[in-house]
Amino acid sequence: MSALEVWVDQDLCTGDGLCVQYAPEVFEFDVDGLAYVKGPDGELLLAPGSRVDVPEHLRLEVIDAAKECPGDCIHVHRAADDVPVAGPNAD
Ligand code: SF4
Repeated sequence: MSALEVWVDQDLCTGDGLCVQYAPEVFEFDVDGLAYVKGPDGELLLAPGSRVDVPEHLRLEVIDAAKECPGDCIHVHRAADDVPVAGPNAD
């Protein structure tokens, strides 16, 4: 299986928290009430468009979160060639 990366477009995030429920190791709210991805050290990446590697054991959770995200703002890409796997740009 190819490695995946994920990022969140906070401009469209509704703050409902579905992603945080699905994969709290990957997504977390900041004080602004919007969801951000976390680095391996648990630090929130606040810069727009910040990407993190999707942990192998959370692939399905992250893909499901992207598919069901009410804001349609979770972008999951294949790391190797940047092809969208789930989210608004995926087929
Ligand atoms: S599921 Fe989507 S809209 Fe909801 S908090 Fe997560 S990123 Fe924001």
